[in-house]
Amino acid sequence: MPTKRNRRRASAAAIAGLGLLVGGIATATASPAEAASSVSGTVSTGGLVLNVRKAAKTDSARIGTLQEGTKVSIVCQEKGTRVNGTVRGTDLWDRLADGGYVSDAYIKRPATALPVCPLPKPSPSRTTERPASPAWVLPVAAAMNSAFRTPQRPTHNGMDLAAAKETPVKAAHSGTVMRVLCQVSIGTCDTDGGLTVSGCGWLVEIRDEAGIVSRYCHLVRRPVVVPGQKVTAGDLVGQVGSSGHSTGPHLHFEIHTAFPATPQNAVDPFLFLKEKGVPVR
Ligand SMILES: [Zn+2]
Repeated sequence: MPTKRNRRRASAAAIAGLGLLVGGIATATASPAEAASSVSGTVSTGGLVLNVRKAAKTDSARIGTLQEGTKVSIVCQEKGTRVNGTVRGTDLWDRLADGGYVSDAYIKRPATALPVCPLPKPSPSRTTERPASPAWVLPVAAAMNSAFRTPQRPTHNGMDLAAAKETPVKAAHSGTVMRVLCQVSIGTCDTDGGLTVSGCGWLVEIRDEAGIVSRYCHLVRRPVVVPGQKVTAGDLVGQVGSSGHSTGPHLHFEIHTAFPATPQNAVDPFLFLKEKGVPVR
């Protein structure tokens, strides 16, 4: 249990850095709006240094100290820990122009009614409050224009998402890029294919931790990912094109239950994504 004498010593020790602290506080510029509505006060502790805290509580982090007689600009007041000080006993704390808080119990000021401090804005940098990123996303923002294994196309082992050439193709899930290759029977993948060409054109395969493999076909040029690369759902994989067995720009998208992806382990990607909660049309 610290005695009053000990506390006094600790406070006196804090004075050592006071020149810098007070200097910093004195030169801190308040915004014009704050300065216009602030009320001047004077630190009156009877000789002790006054702690400036991060919030209106005695157990809040100390961010500075003010010496007896220091002039302060009070922007607003907030209810906090009750303190019996040398000027008054109160649960009000004064927010200063630099954002710190001091107990109003040690501030001499005009008996003006001070505005109540607005609630602090939630910090956008708080990672815990960020919504969790979805596990699965639609690789191209488009409606399906050709489905998995229809009577007309019984060997169509994926779904087609028609989109303009160069539309970004995103990783549907997080995982590891397993294969990046050009698959055409004739010609190259860097030009549009056609019905006389067989193969997926520029393709990418990504495997997740559970062993599910997603496959992206007909990309316009060499994909931006490389084998071995770790990706997160929504990461850019490449751009929509029409390479390989394709008559117009679209993404042919497949889901397989194992690697390597074969026709035997292909499942309906439309139903698969629906089950994962991805809005598909
Ligand atoms: Zn297709």
